[in-house]
Amino acid sequence: MNRIYNFSAGPSMLPVEVLEKAKAELLSYGTSGQSVMEMSHRSKDYEPIIEEAEALLREIMNIPDNYKVMFLQGGASTQFAMIPMNFKKSGKADYVITGMWAKKAASEAAKYLEVSKVASSEDKTFNYIPTLDKATFNPNADYFHITTNNTIYGTKFPALPDTGNVPIIADMSSNILSEVIDVNKFGMIYAGAQKNMGPAGVTVAIVREDLIGECIDGTPTMLQYSTHAENGSMYNTPPTYTVYMCKLVFEWIKNLGGVAAIQKMNEEKAAILYDYLDGSKMFSATVSGDDRSLMNIPFVTGNDELDKKFVKEATAVGFVNLKGHRSVGGMRASIYNAMPLDGVKALVEFMKKFEENA
Ligand code: PMP
Repeated sequence: MNRIYNFSAGPSMLPVEVLEKAKAELLSYGTSGQSVMEMSHRSKDYEPIIEEAEALLREIMNIPDNYKVMFLQGGASTQFAMIPMNFKKSGKADYVITGMWAKKAASEAAKYLEVSKVASSEDKTFNYIPTLDKATFNPNADYFHITTNNTIYGTKFPALPDTGNVPIIADMSSNILSEVIDVNKFGMIYAGAQKNMGPAGVTVAIVREDLIGECIDGTPTMLQYSTHAENGSMYNTPPTYTVYMCKLVFEWIKNLGGVAAIQKMNEEKAAILYDYLDGSKMFSATVSGDDRSLMNIPFVTGNDELDKKFVKEATAVGFVNLKGHRSVGGMRASIYNAMPLDGVKALVEFMKKFEENA
């Protein structure tokens, strides 16, 4: 069977090894005689799966013991509301506006507390990470929110801001597990699974224990971090199969040598594409310098008709989902962890030929 190279921004490719393992275990997991999909979440077969998923994530991300790891539902978008509901104290929070998702996070938070937009790159369609001026930060803010990687615009924070004692809360939906990070520098990290962890349906939240406590009045039980932290993500039925798939992906990362090894591969893959784009006379990357994402690489020809022709011809030969987001136009290649090096090399070869034949 011919598998395509899927450059989708998410849901996106999963490692073939993971899919093969899931296939082998589909009808009967171990000696259980049933699929993981059919198991009670409270069964002796299932409980070790979610426990191991958490243990593996802790291991590969080096998550300290004073952080809770939760498998939640409702997508990263639900976190946009849970964050202010759970962390509001003084009633003020700082947000850096680096894209559509950051904007959505900020406008959701503004329903519950006073949001200060400390910087924005909207003036240039978010094609850079704004320089942050500490003088604009509120030293008494309840938290400081950033989107470490901006899926649509292809930027990532080259360095973390110094926020003093104000906890950094990071939406890492599109770059979690893509490079080594120091979890200690964050109050909270959250990410939807559907790019670097597994199928859609799980949102991972990693929250420093001391931040979990009182919520604003009326916060639904399901939207309180304490509910999930105190119940090992088993307060209600978790998305059992998605957690299982994430466990397989975490094992795959561990077996490849961990996040450091994945980071090396990601840097190599991204360099191949950026190097070509920087030398091309037809295509150019929309982001430059240190702000370039390793995961999402938007590029344009500057000619809408040519962009369309490229996407059409690429699709026909199995490079799919390369159409850029409507707000940027052109193309975007999302090359998450599971995109093989060969996929990026093959895409660049195809782009070279397309350029030569034009
Ligand atoms: N944040 C970022 C950076 C994203 O890329 C996305 C989805 N593409 C979201 C948040 C929203 O995630 P979800 O669809 O899981 O709510």
